[in-house]
Amino acid sequence: MLVLASGILTNSMAQTTGQTAGLPTVVDPKIAAAIAQSSAEHVRTNIEKLVSFGTRSTLSGQDAASIASGRGIGAAREWIRSEFERYSKDCGGCLEVKLESYTQGPAERVAQPTEIGDVYAVLRGTDPESAKRIVLVTGHYDSRNSDNFNVKDDAPGANDDASGTAVSLECARVLSKMKFPATIIFLTVAGEEQGLYGSKHFAEMAKQQTWNIEAALNNDIVGGDKSPGQDASVVRVFSEGLPNAADDKQIRQIRGLGGESDSISRELARYVAEVGRTYDTGVRPMLVFRLDRYLRGGDHYSFNQEGFAAVRFTEYRENFTRQHQTIRTENGIEYGDLPQHVDFDYVSRVARLNAATLASLTSAPAPPKNVRIVTKELINDSTLLWDASPDGRAATYEILWRATTSPDWEHSQRVESGTRVTLPISKDNVIFAVRAADRDGHRSLPVVPQPER
Ligand SMILES: [Zn+2]
Repeated sequence: MLVLASGILTNSMAQTTGQTAGLPTVVDPKIAAAIAQSSAEHVRTNIEKLVSFGTRSTLSGQDAASIASGRGIGAAREWIRSEFERYSKDCGGCLEVKLESYTQGPAERVAQPTEIGDVYAVLRGTDPESAKRIVLVTGHYDSRNSDNFNVKDDAPGANDDASGTAVSLECARVLSKMKFPATIIFLTVAGEEQGLYGSKHFAEMAKQQTWNIEAALNNDIVGGDKSPGQDASVVRVFSEGLPNAADDKQIRQIRGLGGESDSISRELARYVAEVGRTYDTGVRPMLVFRLDRYLRGGDHYSFNQEGFAAVRFTEYRENFTRQHQTIRTENGIEYGDLPQHVDFDYVSRVARLNAATLASLTSAPAPPKNVRIVTKELINDSTLLWDASPDGRAATYEILWRATTSPDWEHSQRVESGTRVTLPISKDNVIFAVRAADRDGHRSLPVVPQPER
């Protein structure tokens, strides 16, 4: 044990169950049991059901007749809503099922005014203060074929993105059996293929209504396409480096202090990596330090633009002959995003990783506020101070640090008491962060300190 002027530090947590990247991990057996319920069979049923609507193009029918016919995005939307309602019935009405919609005017890929409907279910937090904290999982339920405007031919979208929709649904199904201090939103959005319309509307609405979204997990193309070269043990997690929402002053600070790899989205990605080391999900998160793949975008970007932490989950290797393609065979190649190419067990494992992340974040105390590092004088020690987690649920705080050249946290020290600590480590040589933990070892997202003169 190391005793310093302003805080007592110990090296390990009480219930250490494993240690990777220098950090002890703590398993919550209730979370482990819940995520184990995620099943390939449910995923298969849901993806096949979504494909059965023929097309889920946002430009396809959503009037009463189309819904009754069971073809088009309107019918898909109503089915998702009924599925959330069904899970809610199973947990005594624990989910609030909602539709957030607006009319998108004509645009490059929208010919006429079109309703964009986001369906979501809220598992409200049990602690009145913590319930204001929201973590969210999303996938887009719309699909397309080779021609954006073709709503006549099928657009099965089994991988892109019935798989992500199935992750939101499966997270809702397994986590609605539990209670968490903070709030989880299970979201499915439309209009992604026309320009991220559904997620943009939702993120803007959340910002306007000052929702405290701590994390958004976007699952898009997590089907584990079964063609050669796939690695079904890995899921990629993309995160922005320089925040899209940063202003000039923030960019100057990032440049000055070497903060290029410490956006709140990057910290969320590292959190997912830690969850992956902690829980047996059957899939390993592979962090990719960029916003998204070349030439592609996704719904996490909508949340990033509003200043929220958001990451994208995508299978290890994509097969581009099976995305955004009208079903056909050409030169012996089968085009089309069909369920037979999807690895349902893989999707259920990705859902496990998402559910473990959501459950860990909502079980944890709020992150510490106003985290600072003292930079008044030229000294080689580092003093960090912060305000207690506002929900009053933090039992302890932990300091994390790593070399400036390291991708992930390498060291941690627990602060036994107080909200200030001095470490015999030069702030010039490392990157620090502070996180909160409750008595059972649930950890908050880490917060990188602001310099204080
Ligand atoms: Zn997609």
